[in-house]
Amino acid sequence: MSDEKPHVDLHHTEWHHAVNTRDVAYDGVFVVALTSTLVYCRPVCPSRLARPEHRRFFTTWQAANAAGYRPCRRCRPDVVSGQAPLEAVQRLASVVANRITDGALNAQSVPELAAALGTSDRHIRRALKREHGTTPARLALAQRLRAATTLLADPNRSITDVAFASGFGSVRRFNAAFRGQFQMSPTAWRRMQSP
Ligand SMILES: [Zn+2]
Repeated sequence: MSDEKPHVDLHHTEWHHAVNTRDVAYDGVFVVALTSTLVYCRPVCPSRLARPEHRRFFTTWQAANAAGYRPCRRCRPDVVSGQAPLEAVQRLASVVANRITDGALNAQSVPELAAALGTSDRHIRRALKREHGTTPARLALAQRLRAATTLLADPNRSITDVAFASGFGSVRRFNAAFRGQFQMSPTAWRRMQSP
């Protein structure tokens, strides 16, 4: 631990402040070990803040390991940046949102989509809620309605055709969802759009 000592003195105030504010600029610069729990964290860890007198700083997670501390399971300071659970939630949310926007839920259920992505239904719902404040069903509905308005512009397509092609399970559901969003029937909407 002795070779880490100069860093502790040099960065004492600055690094404590970084931990207090969970400053992302310091993520990867140091890890903070807690003498109270023998766990070390990234500066951005959302876990409870330890009292300053219980903090020990290391410039590498390996040094913290060598000093007898173990990595926090929540922020995973021992895993390369970009693969820790914190970023994983953001990545999952963005992958899921893209898949749903591409119509993934027209062909499969949320649990099936989750399985295809190697995760669970619950994880998908929580990630979407946290990152985008929405649910798979709401995203899927928005995607279907967007697709429907595009398809309605083609006068050769029947309403039934548009309903199924945009991912609705029935014409009745399509009409209900369309009215819910646009306060008019698909037919009325189409009439309004055509010159
Ligand atoms: Zn942590």
